[in-house]
Amino acid sequence: MQAVGCDVWEAATASSPDRSCAEELIRVAPLPTHLCRDLVVITTHPYEAMCAAGGLISHLAMQGADVEVLAVTDGDGAAAPRHPFWRRSQILAAYRRLGVPEVRRHRLQLEAGKLSDAQPDLIAALSELVGHDCYPGLWCLAPWRRDGHPDHDAVGLVAEAVCHSYNLRLVRYLCAAWEWLRPEDLPWRRVRQFTLSDNVRARKDAAVPLPPGVPGREWVADRELFLV
Ligand SMILES: [Zn+2]
Repeated sequence: MQAVGCDVWEAATASSPDRSCAEELIRVAPLPTHLCRDLVVITTHPYEAMCAAGGLISHLAMQGADVEVLAVTDGDGAAAPRHPFWRRSQILAAYRRLGVPEVRRHRLQLEAGKLSDAQPDLIAALSELVGHDCYPGLWCLAPWRRDGHPDHDAVGLVAEAVCHSYNLRLVRYLCAAWEWLRPEDLPWRRVRQFTLSDNVRARKDAAVPLPPGVPGREWVADRELFLV
């Protein structure tokens, strides 16, 4: 597989695969969100968990879940951290628009592009976050370890190992995978979907910054796909 980029907008719009997946999608079970009490979100680069799973995060927060976010890096690429969009205040405001007013956000500030070398730091940070207080109903939302971007894959691998150690429910989202994914690449038996209500979709539309060249609101997909 060739190296792919990190296009967070793709994750927000491509969660509705095209007609080639229609047959598989009919059989995809819904994500059992009623089983989730609290949520730990791991985002490799800012906004990507929000783009891939903002509807789910919004819904769970409205259901009363505490949302804690582990931001592994401050951005992908040299320009990213200087862009206003990646400022802490902007990101917190985006979570508020999503319906998560009290998000606890931890920044690891690891260097983007080098996360496969930072696995011990990642394991320590995630273990510290979930290890002391792990209970049924606490879910971890993290990138799929086969997402196709080396940073996402490194984070996904660590999330899988730590969740396995602590017997924590892991829900994986797709980000870079939308650039290369064909229907036959997905392990369909593990795919679950979350359908965004009008209210949740409006919140996600308001939270996720518009991609350049998109004229209006209501551009995010009406469903999100996950792997369990
Ligand atoms: Zn990324």
